[in-house]
Amino acid sequence: MTTRICRLHGQNDLRVETEETAAPGPGEALVAIGAGGICGSDLHYFQDGGFGPIRVREPIILGHEAAGTVLAVGPGVEGLEPGAHVAINPSRPCGTCSYCREGLTTHCLNMRFNGSAMRVPHEQGLFRDRIVVQAAQCVSVGDDVTLTEAACAEPLSVCLHARSMAGDVAGKRVLVSGAGPIGALCTAVAAEAGAAEIVTTDLQDIPLDVAKQMGATRTINVAHDAEALEAYAADKGYFDIVFECSAAAPAIRAAIAAIRPQGRMVQVGVAGDVPVPLNAIVGKEITLQGTQRFLGEDFEKAVALISSRRIDVRPIVTATFPLSEAQRAFETAGDRRVAVKVQLSFEAG
Ligand code: ZN
Repeated sequence: MTTRICRLHGQNDLRVETEETAAPGPGEALVAIGAGGICGSDLHYFQDGGFGPIRVREPIILGHEAAGTVLAVGPGVEGLEPGAHVAINPSRPCGTCSYCREGLTTHCLNMRFNGSAMRVPHEQGLFRDRIVVQAAQCVSVGDDVTLTEAACAEPLSVCLHARSMAGDVAGKRVLVSGAGPIGALCTAVAAEAGAAEIVTTDLQDIPLDVAKQMGATRTINVAHDAEALEAYAADKGYFDIVFECSAAAPAIRAAIAAIRPQGRMVQVGVAGDVPVPLNAIVGKEITLQGTQRFLGEDFEKAVALISSRRIDVRPIVTATFPLSEAQRAFETAGDRRVAVKVQLSFEAG
């Protein structure tokens, strides 16, 4: 069966091609993809040929945020029927290495993650009309939500994992630094956990409008109104928890200034070497907490929150393009003035 795929051959060289898809084997499912979200890493592969030490060294089918409809299942698959709408968990930890045995599957030594150029051969991604995946990667979504919404399960999982690294968020004052898709969803998970206040910052107005719809109690455009954020630095700071989603040095500095003593900054955005004001981290006894991808349970929780619309992800999807216009979709996703989450739609979408 011939299927269309979205394959990156190198920097700025994105091609819609075709490939044969096999029938699902034992334990596998054939899924018709409906929607797939373009993530920052996909964008870095496209614009820059990679990020940090991770480079695109061979052609790679992009995409790790996708949802679709099960077309067929292989022998031995139970609990998953053709016709089911599913979000695909792109994460396949080995289950047997020392970290997996400890339950730290995000740190698996043999991780396979769809659409990742971290290892060679690259792990191929989900941007294609049809794909055979492990049935265990398919998490059923409710019938009342769209595949567009279901395809947001992966970035929402990232934010749920970040929230689990933040400690108890209920009743806390939260700063979300950066309002791209991850900042918008960190805003949503903080609201869902009952944060008392959520201030979300960005350099652009459209992402801040989205953040407001996702539960921000206040938004600040720091390009025009940096003083509004600086005011929170009075008396050694205001926020109990920061979700830092920009990885930009000025934003990190401003966020650390705005955290109260013994507060916690969860660093969600990622970059290479970035200067941080150690004096403030030490002097205010701030905990700087990293967070990496998500656990299987985070993904299942994300699907449940989307299925019930307890978290309504619809505002974050600011544009959808058919696969045939993949180039335009990537260019739009790269324009932060207009885009939060850009998705591709596929045959089933
Ligand atoms: Zn492992």
